Amino acid sequence: MPKCPRCGAEINRLRYECKVWEFSDFYLASYTDPQGEHFTGEWDDWEYSDASDAKPLWYCPECDKPLFACQTTAEAFLMGKDVKVEVNVRGRLLPKQRKP
Ligand SMILES: [Zn+2]
Repeated sequence: MPKCPRCGAEINRLRYECKVWEFSDFYLASYTDPQGEHFTGEWDDWEYSDASDAKPLWYCPECDKPLFACQTTAEAFLMGKDVKVEVNVRGRLLPKQRKP
């Protein structure tokens, strides 16, 4: 199982986080109980789309630190390949490291 390069925990999944826009229909629904009829807001037909500053990040679920910024690298890591962390602990991209 791959080990988190930051905390050393063995992990078989990463936590994904990405900014998105969300859209929904909002309407008033009614329900009736012994006290009478009540109204409450309800949501329906959720849709999501990428925000322009989406910044997708893959985190270690154990130490909660960001590790990768690209799906291909996250997949390679989970496959046990030797990949480098792509972001610092604040989620900022690190400069690409060249292989010797
Ligand atoms: Zn970790």
